[in-house]
Amino acid sequence: MRIMTGRSARRALVVGFALAMAAACDDDGAGGDERAQVDGGGGAGGVAADAGGGGGAGGAGGAGGGAGGAGGGAMGGGPDAGMDRPDCPSDLFLDVAAAPGAGDGYPAPELSARCEAGELVVTSNGIPHYTFVPMTPNPLQASPKEWRVPLRPTLAAEPTDIPLLGQTGFTVNGIPFFGPNEAAQPAAEAFGDPVFNGITDECNGHTSREEYHYHALQERCLTVDGLVAEPWRLPAVAGDHASPVLGFALDGFAIRGPYECVDVDCTAIVEMRSGWQAIGDPTTNAWDAYAYEASDDPAVLDRCNGHVGPNGRYHYHATSGFPYILGCYAGEVDGGGGGGMMPGGGGMMPGGGGMPGGGPQACEEEADCVDACPTGSQGCTCFQGRMGNPRCAPTCNVAEDCPDVPDRTFACRNQVCVPAMMP
Ligand SMILES: [Zn+2]
Ligand SMILES: [Zn+2]
Repeated sequence: MRIMTGRSARRALVVGFALAMAAACDDDGAGGDERAQVDGGGGAGGVAADAGGGGGAGGAGGAGGGAGGAGGGAMGGGPDAGMDRPDCPSDLFLDVAAAPGAGDGYPAPELSARCEAGELVVTSNGIPHYTFVPMTPNPLQASPKEWRVPLRPTLAAEPTDIPLLGQTGFTVNGIPFFGPNEAAQPAAEAFGDPVFNGITDECNGHTSREEYHYHALQERCLTVDGLVAEPWRLPAVAGDHASPVLGFALDGFAIRGPYECVDVDCTAIVEMRSGWQAIGDPTTNAWDAYAYEASDDPAVLDRCNGHVGPNGRYHYHATSGFPYILGCYAGEVDGGGGGGMMPGGGGMMPGGGGMPGGGPQACEEEADCVDACPTGSQGCTCFQGRMGNPRCAPTCNVAEDCPDVPDRTFACRNQVCVPAMMP
């Protein structure tokens, strides 16, 4: 058993597991159109997406290859459990228009999902389908979304870090989810674990300056039964059936709730657990407060918080412990929502102090910022944000001009690269 700490170690992962899976899985994915069927025939590195509607206990796991796909779960899992896995997972998305909505004065929730050209395309206005409970000073407002992820996601040779800030996927009710940390604010909880710090609502969401988003997923908030004003008042989800799909990561792999069949016949149900262990204080710098510890226990997930389920398909699980949703991307993310799906955040300070590994350099005049920005910056300017002291910040015309910096995603605002998302 080996312990690796912090984000610095997270790249060192599971190449072996990815390669093993590429060999093991030539099952078809959730391809919903002709082109996807032709293109996605299980080429090198391909692995089936888990978009099943049921418990994953279908007897045909791993034996697909035709257009129909392996069966969905037959052992519990709700009314859809016995249905065949749909070619297009659009049916997994909730009819949020049938729900009460966020409350008086808020727009009604809007959500659509379809498949085209080998992609799952989801649009939303980002409004939750249940009563909005403010947990931050930021108001709830509509925030138009369009996500496109591959119907046939591909496991990467090695995992990719999720962004420190911003979207890492979306849920079946049309809400983005983030990683398990906040930004530099509030200062006393800089980059802290927002679930640990109790600043999310009972569906584990809250508002940033731009949008409502989740940091963890609660199954009872994300199912048909949860299309009510206060889904958190429903009974806790019983662990007597395999959990449904609750959302998709930007690499295209599904996220299921915590409960899973132990085998293809679903002879028992187990709660899947994160392999990340607390080694420090998650109040601040969440990634430094947990370390991943691999385990031989099949109920313990990989570093990315996923595994290959008994149906032979890779997927993630939402877990009760850190990182709650994703620990990293196991799949290829380049074609699956990177370019066109930059987190649409607004910026404040570039940095703000307390950045892991040192924030931007302080400055008083432009001369202080010569060569003071990360390699690859177009230019470097002394920038006074809305808060704090002036800092050296990369210049830009569009977000693509901003440098590639681990753990950061930039937006371009007023010709300055700023962090793409606030808490
Ligand atoms: Zn699973
Ligand atoms: Zn947040």
